[in-house]
Amino acid sequence: MDFQKSPVNYPFDCLLIDLDDTLYPGGTGIGPALKRNIDEFLMARYGLAADTAAALRVELFRTHGSTLAGLIALGYDVHPDEYHSYVHGRLPYDRIAADPRLALLLQSIPQRKILFTNSDRAHMERALERLGVDEACFDDVVCFETMNPHLFGGDGQDRTDVVLKPSVDAILVGLRVAGTNPRRTLFLDDSERNIAAGKALGLRTALVGKRVRSKEADYALETIGSLQRAIPEIWGVAAGAVDGELQPDHNVEKNKSMRAELDSVIQPTSIQA
Ligand SMILES: [Mg+2]
Repeated sequence: MDFQKSPVNYPFDCLLIDLDDTLYPGGTGIGPALKRNIDEFLMARYGLAADTAAALRVELFRTHGSTLAGLIALGYDVHPDEYHSYVHGRLPYDRIAADPRLALLLQSIPQRKILFTNSDRAHMERALERLGVDEACFDDVVCFETMNPHLFGGDGQDRTDVVLKPSVDAILVGLRVAGTNPRRTLFLDDSERNIAAGKALGLRTALVGKRVRSKEADYALETIGSLQRAIPEIWGVAAGAVDGELQPDHNVEKNKSMRAELDSVIQPTSIQA
């Protein structure tokens, strides 16, 4: 006799989850503060005027994925630790509010969970601490240092390229750590660019922080707190069957037949005063 080993049909084996503006909302002011810090780094380190620094930041993000990646690609002598301690080390972390429900939500996810961030480890640790989420909530972490061991003398390779989402190499690092079929791996990120890159490599994708899906997103959710409602399949629950919403009304047919039975025995009579 054949037995069904698993009564629950999970569509995913692993979740790759971004950190900034994904595990906490986009309106904290961390993003604008980061841009200011990058501009100040460029001004302090290279003597640029404020408007030149801002324009360079925008251009390097567009052409190289990040300011640091652009600086290194263009041959400037800057170590990632120096850059990160300046631009991340001075962020207003107090604006990231503790989210007691987030840890519970993450712990309830039955699949492997990989934190997948472009940020350096120090920033990741401070952000998680503010959120009240233990790193142990995740099965593994992919961060700047993980994607770029060659910049820290870690892999013996003589390369200086910076690997960050949304590059193919970065997504492949995430997939290697996940160890799963891309089509059974769900990638959550607030960046449409990152989501598009993930989709191109076959990942299932969820755009966080938006009401509406981008072209390459399979799902959209306004905040990570609405994950259960937006993607109940993670818990093996059919879409639309959460919180009593859109539950198929199995009672409709039962009610109809009960009404027919009652109609056959009850003879309506007018009530005489
Ligand atoms: Mg992000």
